[in-house]
Amino acid sequence: MRSKTQKSVEQAGLSDKEIRDLVQRTKGVRAVRIIPTSRVVTAPWVRLKCQFGCDGYGRCLVCPPFTPTPDQMRAVLDSYHRVMLIHFDTQTNIKATIVDLERAIFLRGAWKAFGLGAGPCYFCKRCELTSGRCRHAERARPAMEACGIDVFSSARNAGFPIEVIRNRRQCPNYYGMILVD
Ligand code: SF4
Repeated sequence: MRSKTQKSVEQAGLSDKEIRDLVQRTKGVRAVRIIPTSRVVTAPWVRLKCQFGCDGYGRCLVCPPFTPTPDQMRAVLDSYHRVMLIHFDTQTNIKATIVDLERAIFLRGAWKAFGLGAGPCYFCKRCELTSGRCRHAERARPAMEACGIDVFSSARNAGFPIEVIRNRRQCPNYYGMILVD
């Protein structure tokens, strides 16, 4: 009997190695891990952190309250088998790189590929909140945390480092994610 992962490889036509090789040679990528979606953690408290504590809340269409709730995101994640968690260098434009990688993987046959970045969207000086129609919908993607993903737990589940930043001397760890198939 075929495992879930074997089935998804056949569906997408891409092995873990092919995806890893493709992503690892991208500028700004420090490391890549491919994990089952069951290792990605969603939690209700993540939304609370966006709403009370982040000045990006309600300021762009890829942030809450416009993004999927943690429950909706859990359902989305459960409709995939594999995700790729990507550790980026600190100076990398994660949002732009993630959507380029999403496209590269999509064009190789993973038709469900969808990227999630980190932080608010800065593609426009002012977000198109009034009309609710994103000016760059083909490139704007939400952050993981904007969709209720607990990035700390998920990164640690993938074996990546991530710590609470206590002062400006500490170097943060930045991640992006691509839902593969
Ligand atoms: S691309 Fe522009 S309109 Fe779309 S979410 Fe980003 S800032 Fe808003």
